[in-house]
Amino acid sequence: MTAHRVVVIGSGFGGLAAVKALKRAPVDVTMIARTQHHLFQPLLYQVATGILSEGEIAPSTRRILRDQRNAEVLLGDVVDIDLASRTVVSELLGRQYRTPYDSLIVAAGAGQSYFGNDHFAEFAPGIKTLDDALEIRARIVGAFEAAERCGDVDLRQRLLTFTVIGAGPTGVELAGQLAELAGRTLKGEFRSIDPTAARVILLDAAPAVLAPMGANLGAKAQARLRQLGVEIQLGATVVDVDVDGLMVRYSDGAMGRIESACKVWSAGVSASPLARLIAQQAGAEVDRAGRLVVLPDLTVPGHPNVFVVGDMAAVPGVPGMAQGAMQGAKYAARAIRADLLGHCPPLQGPFHCVEREPFHYLDKGSMATVSRFSAVAKVGRLEVAGIFAWLAWLLLHLVYLVGFKSKVTTVISWAATFLTMNRGQLTVTEQQVSVFDAPDHPETHDRSDIPDPAVDAA
Ligand SMILES: Cc1cc2nc3c(=O)[nH]c(=O)nc-3n(C[C@H](O)[C@H](O)[C@H](O)COP(=O)(O)OP(=O)(O)OC[C@H]3O[C@@H](n4cnc5c(N)ncnc54)[C@H](O)[C@@H]3O)c2cc1C
Repeated sequence: MTAHRVVVIGSGFGGLAAVKALKRAPVDVTMIARTQHHLFQPLLYQVATGILSEGEIAPSTRRILRDQRNAEVLLGDVVDIDLASRTVVSELLGRQYRTPYDSLIVAAGAGQSYFGNDHFAEFAPGIKTLDDALEIRARIVGAFEAAERCGDVDLRQRLLTFTVIGAGPTGVELAGQLAELAGRTLKGEFRSIDPTAARVILLDAAPAVLAPMGANLGAKAQARLRQLGVEIQLGATVVDVDVDGLMVRYSDGAMGRIESACKVWSAGVSASPLARLIAQQAGAEVDRAGRLVVLPDLTVPGHPNVFVVGDMAAVPGVPGMAQGAMQGAKYAARAIRADLLGHCPPLQGPFHCVEREPFHYLDKGSMATVSRFSAVAKVGRLEVAGIFAWLAWLLLHLVYLVGFKSKVTTVISWAATFLTMNRGQLTVTEQQVSVFDAPDHPETHDRSDIPDPAVDAA
């Protein structure tokens, strides 16, 4: 008799946790993901700003799971899920593959949302994948290099203005690191420009920085960023982005323009399109962020063998954070195991014969670093800011980083960066830097065709 087949889509926090949690279950697990690594997204901004290398935060899933005999890893982009025939269709290098399942755990995460303005992405990449982080690194390094060669004062100023759109944890962390990169690491490395004169601007449509963490911690993070020289514009909605800068509508109705060659978008998320695909087949709903509204046991209505977890599931009270994905994935794995090992009368089949307890999320708190030696953390009612929060942040991220080697090399990279202000990962390749074409052709950009600023963003 063949073992019960579990297919897991995604190798992120949810996908990997699900596969690992099924290690001792009497099942065959197939993980299908479009990347061959497990990405630790919370440290992407450190790859973008030259602190860590991509390998340190993205070990190979094949390697991680090599000793789990009941698990196999397949690289592929899932393009279809057929709930009726219980089949997942994935693509790799132009070929299609069909993988049948008995149980399915979908953990395909979320992408960047530009709130209907997808054309912003060309000029203001989001930071969701390793490719994004490396592109942003190339844009940052490329801007400094182009400024060094630039004789035009206005263009040089535009090249040395870095804008981060979205003042959530990622935006705050990125802006803080950009300020430290320009103000400390690159100091003295150029001959024509002064990197410490670079502007870092952090924008958000909301009236506060780190709004979900509360007014107190938001104010502390804001004060620290200002100390570092970050300019913060709140109540500032980005309504258009182009190669040279962005248009902003302020809360008092005034319009403004920021000339900035290097822009990063960290303002919104949109669930994997697989959520909508499943919803259409199951007659289920998706919310405004495209997340599938699942049942209390994280399954798709009418399909007790299909679980949706992590950033692509809408579950009341569960934030789009790593803990939510991991806890949801472990719950799904436990439910599958319980169904199989439970006391099901044979004729009823393996699924859902045991009444499932609803998924319960345990809130372990949230944190964000602002700069070296400074972070903010909130655990329940406890709020901490400063160096203790920063040390806790370092420790926790080390605990959750996968792989002993990654942990060791990350500690070494952090020590080098935070104690000496040097960064070992500011290398960009010729090919990477060539994507940043803004400095080469500024005069060819015709400003007269900027569309009406009419859409809400940021
Ligand atoms: C920059 C950044 C910083 C963050 N910082 C924090 C933080 O400090 N703390 C915190 O708790 N959370 C943080 N988060 C959020 C956290 O990373 C997510 O909540 C978590 O990754 C969600 O896990 P997931 O498994 O749902 O999705 P992901 O971890 O995103 O994994 C999705 C997986 O699905 C794969 N995939 C997607 N589509 C397909 C497809 N069609 N076919 C095949 N595979 C597919 C992807 O390749 C990936 O392997 C951060 C996120 C970002 C982007």
